[in-house]
Amino acid sequence: MNPEEQIKQLREELREHNYKYYVLDEPTISDYEFDQKLKQLQELEAAHPQFFDPNSPTVRVGGEVTKNFNTVTHEFRMYSLDNSYSKEDLLDWEKRIQKMVDGPVQYTCELKYDGASMSLTYENGMLVSAVTRGDGFQGDEVTANVRTIKSVPLQLKGDYPEKFSIRGEIILPFEGFEKMNLERIDIGEEPYRNPRNTASGSLKLQDSSEVARRPLECLLYSLKANRLPIKTQFEGLQKAREWGFKVPQVARLCDSMDEVLEFINYWDIHRHDMPYETDGVVIKVNSLQQQEELGYTAKAPRWAMAYKFKAESAATVLHKITYQVGRTGAITPVANLEPVELAGTIVKRASLHNADQIAKLDVREGDTVFVEKGGEIIPKITAVDLSARDANSEPTRYITHCPECDTALERKEGEAQHYCPNAEGCPPQIIGRIQHYISRKAMDIEGLGGETVALLVNNGLIHNYADLYELTAEQVIPLERMAEKSAENLINGIEASRQIPFERVLFALGIRYVGETVAKKLARHFKSIDALMATSEEVLVGVEEIGERIAQSVIQFFASEENKETIQRLKEYGVQLEISADILANQTDKLQGNTFVVSGVFTSVSRTELKKLIEDNGGKVSGSISGKTSYVVAGENMGPSKKTKAESLGISIISEEEFLAMIS
Ligand code: AMP
Ligand code: ZN
Repeated sequence: MNPEEQIKQLREELREHNYKYYVLDEPTISDYEFDQKLKQLQELEAAHPQFFDPNSPTVRVGGEVTKNFNTVTHEFRMYSLDNSYSKEDLLDWEKRIQKMVDGPVQYTCELKYDGASMSLTYENGMLVSAVTRGDGFQGDEVTANVRTIKSVPLQLKGDYPEKFSIRGEIILPFEGFEKMNLERIDIGEEPYRNPRNTASGSLKLQDSSEVARRPLECLLYSLKANRLPIKTQFEGLQKAREWGFKVPQVARLCDSMDEVLEFINYWDIHRHDMPYETDGVVIKVNSLQQQEELGYTAKAPRWAMAYKFKAESAATVLHKITYQVGRTGAITPVANLEPVELAGTIVKRASLHNADQIAKLDVREGDTVFVEKGGEIIPKITAVDLSARDANSEPTRYITHCPECDTALERKEGEAQHYCPNAEGCPPQIIGRIQHYISRKAMDIEGLGGETVALLVNNGLIHNYADLYELTAEQVIPLERMAEKSAENLINGIEASRQIPFERVLFALGIRYVGETVAKKLARHFKSIDALMATSEEVLVGVEEIGERIAQSVIQFFASEENKETIQRLKEYGVQLEISADILANQTDKLQGNTFVVSGVFTSVSRTELKKLIEDNGGKVSGSISGKTSYVVAGENMGPSKKTKAESLGISIISEEEFLAMIS
């Protein structure tokens, strides 16, 4: 098979597996096999860039950077929906409909997904653009980001129309949202408040590879075109499903308003079993012909109605406010409640976020409070029942000292959270830091889990992560539930971690605000821990994407004598504290101070490789041309608007060969 055929075949195969996995939820190959095939395709595409395809399955991993999102006018306006809250509202609506159309009316009922609305346009079966709702008339073009969302088909199958748009909602399922938050808490960032805002915020990220890492999904519900091969909304859903879109199966065709109400009553209870947030039901007149007769008001279709569920709320007694201390010393107040049933689960605890939140609600121990389940899995307290408050009740006084080590708490200006500054002596911080160090994305120490770390610390065997490297099997065996075999595994796992590359070690150190991506940036830039420790805040801020907050945190970390000593010890134990020689061998400073924009298709390297070459040689890659651009590297089919812009700004446009000569 020649490379072109091979690429074509792999793309088709991967597309099908992607569809089975993300749309149907029925994978037929393992993740490993999938990754292998994807890698093979990436290599082939890199070697044969003339077969570039913006909708290849390899674009799912992202990489394109959008600096400014273009404003685009919707070909078909994206209307809002009228809301209803009761059976009466719906019956009134039905009466209005019956006055305007003849014959029986059927309805399609769907769930109302709570996310960010999106319009996708396809031409000849290929995704050509993705635009946010905006004000309904025009929105932002976020195509590069939406291409990374796995349930958005990039190429359709079956008998799709030549050109059409489809409306849907980008959502973030609860599970993925919780996982993202755990990771944020882990690097000392504030968790996101709810999935909906996080989903819509994700669409406006500049770096599409960041979007690719977020577990977003796209659920579709409506086709738009000048002419459509369907007569009803329900048929439209079925067709969209056939073409490869993710259209939830819960949609139901109803012959009467009674059936609609049945659907609503069922989902008012069962919506809590769904993996994502739904805030109501959308009822649509099924016949497109009748829809046309009904038309639109100034803001919404007359043929559709949203029915909003009431937020599930319960009243219960708050017994006690306790305070948790995280790895970074952040304090989180928690309300311990009289257990109460809410949305099908028993709730015992609710988050109170921070001191301001407590003050705002004026919530006190002994109060009767209302808890609500919103987008978060942990419920929140929305109000206090003041009429039930005891006359002797006193306002809550936020703790001033750490509940674990009794150190006076601090709160920096502009920050919502209080912190325990006793990083070295506060048990949950000590344990949390070591747990972070061994975690999968950091040192990935096999044979050692979070609970064992706590055991080791509480038994006085370790105090910081450097101590791990001095542990012996004999010390570990006497611990609870520790067999000889597992002790051995643990020691071997620690041993193996000496090979983990520098960028991950840097992440593992647990410097506040230094997540995986920042650690990678810093490792690439400074190349060794010694260089990083010797640097200043000014230099750090000069590094791409490093802001003041991160810079200060890095400086502060290395100013600590204890941290310096720990790092010295890690060095002695053979942990990787500089970039390995083979990575370094390919890096230079030749392009230092220059910003590049890459445009078009290249022959001897892929776009991704080209960008990597720029970064490896000290240059910066930017997504759009501005006064700050030094060079535009132009391949075949460079965008005409980019060309005009570069010329008007007098920026040199260089060819692939000229670029390669610069670094050779
Ligand atoms: P609202 O923002 O309250 O005016 O509600 C209208 C929005 O509901 C639409 O713009 C869509 O983004 C969203 N929506 C969610 N699910 C559906 C659905 N099944 N059908 C139509 N719109 C939906
Ligand atoms: Zn403490």
